[in-house]
Amino acid sequence: MKIICIGRNYTNHIEELKNERPAEPVVFMKPDSAVLLKQHPFVIPEFSEDVHHEIEIVVKINKVGKYIEPKFAHKYYDDISVGIDFTARDLQAKLKEKGLPWEKAKAFDGSAVIGDFLSKTLFNSVENINFELTNNNETVQKGNTSLMLWKIDELISYVSRYFTLKIGDVIFTGTPAGVAAVKPNDVLEGFLEDKKLFRIQVK
Ligand code: ZN
Repeated sequence: MKIICIGRNYTNHIEELKNERPAEPVVFMKPDSAVLLKQHPFVIPEFSEDVHHEIEIVVKINKVGKYIEPKFAHKYYDDISVGIDFTARDLQAKLKEKGLPWEKAKAFDGSAVIGDFLSKTLFNSVENINFELTNNNETVQKGNTSLMLWKIDELISYVSRYFTLKIGDVIFTGTPAGVAAVKPNDVLEGFLEDKKLFRIQVK
């Protein structure tokens, strides 16, 4: 299983990091070892002083596909969730400055939180779903899929031009504004509409 992540997919997050609006989706990957095991706490790695939470809509691929056309992309996933793309922002800034790959800052062990999946049929439209991250019961990030620069179907089509999608692969679809550092004892909870799909303790 592979984890494909999209960067810079919400205008308000591009602005908060003072990044340029990309002409095409920004794509990177995490290995399967990045998945935070269920019921495990997130341990802040010793190589970073500034690990940020990024709440994102996650879709699970249910069919093998390559060169998927946008109009057929909806057939390649049934289930969606929310997850966290944990990012060592200090390390990422150094790597970006030198034009180096982001993996050490983005793909380390535990950096991919994946919540419980729900059938997309529970929602009227996947292009209008609210999601939210709370930290110690306070809302820290809020988004809606209608605000994505590239919609889920467009992302599935785009990434499948480069990588064959396989059953069980997941796509993290980018984070809205509000990214911030986590600290020990934080409790992070992710919601799709009113459904809580994960709860993570930070250590
Ligand atoms: Zn992200």
